[in-house]
Amino acid sequence: THPPDLSPPEQVEVANHIPRPVGEGTANATLVFLARNSELDGVLSSMEHVEMRFNKRFGYPWVFLNEVEFEDEFKRRVQEATSAPVSFGLIPHDHWYQPDWVDEDRAREGRERMKALNMIYADNVPYRNMCRFNSGFFFHHPLLQPYRYYWRVEPGISYTCDIPYDPFDYLRDHGKIYGFTITFTEWEATIPTLWASVKEFIEKYPQYVSDNNAMSYLSKDGGTTYNLCHFWSNFEIADLDFWRSEAYQKFFEFLDSKGGFYYERWGDAPVHSIAAALFADKEKLHFFNDIGYSHPPFEHCPAGELRNGKNCNCNPALSIDRRPQSCLAKYEKLW
Ligand code: GDP
Ligand code: MN
Repeated sequence: THPPDLSPPEQVEVANHIPRPVGEGTANATLVFLARNSELDGVLSSMEHVEMRFNKRFGYPWVFLNEVEFEDEFKRRVQEATSAPVSFGLIPHDHWYQPDWVDEDRAREGRERMKALNMIYADNVPYRNMCRFNSGFFFHHPLLQPYRYYWRVEPGISYTCDIPYDPFDYLRDHGKIYGFTITFTEWEATIPTLWASVKEFIEKYPQYVSDNNAMSYLSKDGGTTYNLCHFWSNFEIADLDFWRSEAYQKFFEFLDSKGGFYYERWGDAPVHSIAAALFADKEKLHFFNDIGYSHPPFEHCPAGELRNGKNCNCNPALSIDRRPQSCLAKYEKLW
């Protein structure tokens, strides 16, 4: 007999098979995790939460993405943390790094301006790469091509209540394209010209704006000004086909051509949120009020009967929902 092969798998770059759920999951869906090798501890603790609260029962595959190769130890420890299939993918160079056509002098001035304002990630170029990748490229990755739905996971997050049902089924069965748990206002200094670009886009392409959109969640004056509300994108359970749609592709290309991911620090959260709120019917958005989720410093904690039977380990009084920064009331007022 041969000794068991304990070597880690090759870095997978092309999806030549579709990992199926190894549990009760029936949706065409995956958990997606962008991470750095240095984040292994936070990755494992996030995985433990997702597996314990949800995935040990449903068995959805995990896809890990990185702009550099994952190290062997990272891959081994991650695979030990789940009984579901795991794939590791490398991000194509041009989907990650600052494009050559970006004026580096202007980008540097933007970073320095933001640094002077003490803004978080002010002069951080990798952070900008990450925001642009999450805005315009993750859904093009070969490893995600087999899938319709994804659940985004980040290092150092927690799920604070059991998730006894399949949120992917919920999206599919209710025709939803975007699910969130936390919504609040963006730092204006990171997106000073984003809204002007959005307005330019929708004037040029009015056909992409849904007749039943959620503009009043984004603006108190019908779109003249942006109130900075967005869905926090570190949690997303959503439909990849929405990002792959013509409307969103055109929108991303248009925003990208403005250079604001580098001249400013446009986040994938406002970019995703503005698109979902304008190009989709508002009925296709979903607030996962029953999912307890924490990404410090903010959390959403289910209250009242939503906690029943879920072994919740969070305090609803600490939930961001009814705090002044929250945009939940504006979202709920859509109906
Ligand atoms: P924050 O939540 O906005 O403070 O940003 P994070 O540091 O959590 O980054 C968001 C996500 O992108 C996380 O999943 C990180 O692991 C990932 N990320 C951020 N920067 C990089 C990077 O330079 N390379 C890779 N591979 N992942 C990154
Ligand atoms: Mn994070």
